[in-house]
Amino acid sequence: MKNYLKKLFVPLLASAPVSSVATKFFHQGTPIFMIHRLIVDGQSSSGVSPEHLRHCLNYLVKNGYTFVSLDEVIRSVNSNTPLPEKSVCFTMDDGFIEQGNTAIPIFIEFNCPLTFFVIVGFLDNELWPWDTKISFIINNTRKTHLSMLFDDEQVSITLNKNDSHRSAREIIRNTIKEMDASLIPDFISLLADTAGIQVPESAPDEYLALNWDMVREYESKGIRFAPHSMTHRILSKLDKKSAENEITTSWSRLKTELSNPIKVFCYPTGRVLDFGPREIQILKNEGFLGAVTTIHGYVNTSNLSPDQAFCLPRFELPDNMMDFMQYCSWIEHAKIRS
Ligand SMILES: [Zn+2]
Repeated sequence: MKNYLKKLFVPLLASAPVSSVATKFFHQGTPIFMIHRLIVDGQSSSGVSPEHLRHCLNYLVKNGYTFVSLDEVIRSVNSNTPLPEKSVCFTMDDGFIEQGNTAIPIFIEFNCPLTFFVIVGFLDNELWPWDTKISFIINNTRKTHLSMLFDDEQVSITLNKNDSHRSAREIIRNTIKEMDASLIPDFISLLADTAGIQVPESAPDEYLALNWDMVREYESKGIRFAPHSMTHRILSKLDKKSAENEITTSWSRLKTELSNPIKVFCYPTGRVLDFGPREIQILKNEGFLGAVTTIHGYVNTSNLSPDQAFCLPRFELPDNMMDFMQYCSWIEHAKIRS
């Protein structure tokens, strides 16, 4: 059985945030948080609620944390100078409309710097991301079991309850991440046919992108924007020229549309296998200052590895206060241990 298809049947234990964080819990450093979808009334988006985001920022203000911008973090990494104690950095990925409408006003209210990585082809109305198409298909199908033959392999997915919908989405997404990029459109179209779902050309309401006027408006209020590729395809699954094009075109489009984009890249899906020395070299050749990943960990300027600025770790913003406080509180934990 093909490797990526095999993974359909393997629980994604390795991606569980808790297990990963546990090993890094006591390392000193600054957490960079990333936000994806926001929960908005009347829509079924999963993610963090605006109330929760407000609680998190309020907690940081009340407990003496310093907000640092991503460019401060990168400057500090590149110059090997320490960041303030108890500092926290925020980023947001992709470019959905509710991220702008819902999260940005909260960051502005708290005067908290935010770097927003946008999928440029999505904002250009050329596409909607392949991983959100998977969510759309799974969320809307009435079938409880999907069985299909892809690339000479039988694929079977059971969708009984909400929980199995969520895990099916994650498992399919992670399966697709292992495929050669050229196979993805065919896989999605077969999945849609099997699920009895028509995938529209442009994004449906729940998955709408920001437009450039909105982005310019947010930029004028201090939000920094940076490239997250043209198409959200995984760079390591592309040939060199295509990977280069994802990086250089998304940056040049941002420079054309905005007055102050930041030259830091966000690798699509950002796991260890999704980028490598080739992508880091392209970024360096193009004069990028650094790049962020979705690998869990803290930024620690006293213990830098080579190319650290191009492999910056991040944590998904936890959806509950207890986890959030723990992610932020390495100093307290270090004190308790000493
Ligand atoms: Zn993304």
